[in-house]
Amino acid sequence: MEPKYKRVLLKLSGEALAGNIGHGIDFDTVLKICRPIKAVVEAGVEIGIVVGGGNFWRGRSSGKMNRTRADHMGMLGTVINALGVADGLEQLGVPVRVQTAIAMQQVAEPYIRNRAVRHLEKGRVVVFGCGTGNPFFSTDTAAALRAAEIEADIILKATMVDGVYDSDPKKNPNAVRYDTLTFTDVLAKDLKVMDGTAATMCRDNHIPICVFSLEDPENIYRIICGESIGTMVTMQE
Ligand code: UDP
Repeated sequence: MEPKYKRVLLKLSGEALAGNIGHGIDFDTVLKICRPIKAVVEAGVEIGIVVGGGNFWRGRSSGKMNRTRADHMGMLGTVINALGVADGLEQLGVPVRVQTAIAMQQVAEPYIRNRAVRHLEKGRVVVFGCGTGNPFFSTDTAAALRAAEIEADIILKATMVDGVYDSDPKKNPNAVRYDTLTFTDVLAKDLKVMDGTAATMCRDNHIPICVFSLEDPENIYRIICGESIGTMVTMQE
């Protein structure tokens, strides 16, 4: 395998870890996702992973709660996922460290950028928990932020849909999938790639995003090998 990218930031939504159960963690699904990650790590690719938390809790959907507190709960959900993914990788023999944006020293390392980069250089996967550590943000924005900080070549955004469409493919059978897009298109057409804060951050820091389906987790391997899968969002055509 000749990898196309040297350092990659993989964003896994919480939903992706729930598999067919639909909530919480389905560990068989976690292992399925970890296998291609092992393959790319063995090929010398450095991988940072930002995990979501939607399989447990989403602050913005909490209804009557105070938003900041609800977001704190959401961030704790991402830590459960980070530990689950780390366990899956460890079971497959992949060296891994978890770093959290909110310190919880007995559970994981605190997020320290230089330390994260050192782990990557040594071939360890770094799983980032707690998103950005701030309420009112998403784990997509955390992915953009960490990708910028560790100077990742690309963000691979794993979703349940096989790319970005001009309308919701679940509601519109004639929806058309884009192979490529520019950040200008994404922001102008308000396409559902990432939330606006995350998309703006990627644009400003020149970080391309590949949005793809995790239904077949081997897609992670294929994209890193250079195959055109899903939708690639770049600065220009
Ligand atoms: N969250 C937060 N700040 C962050 C990242 C996440 O407050 O920087 C909280 C927020 O409540 C969010 C939840 O954690 O709803 C789970 O993250 P997200 O919704 O991004 O997870 P995903 O949809 O990717 O599973």
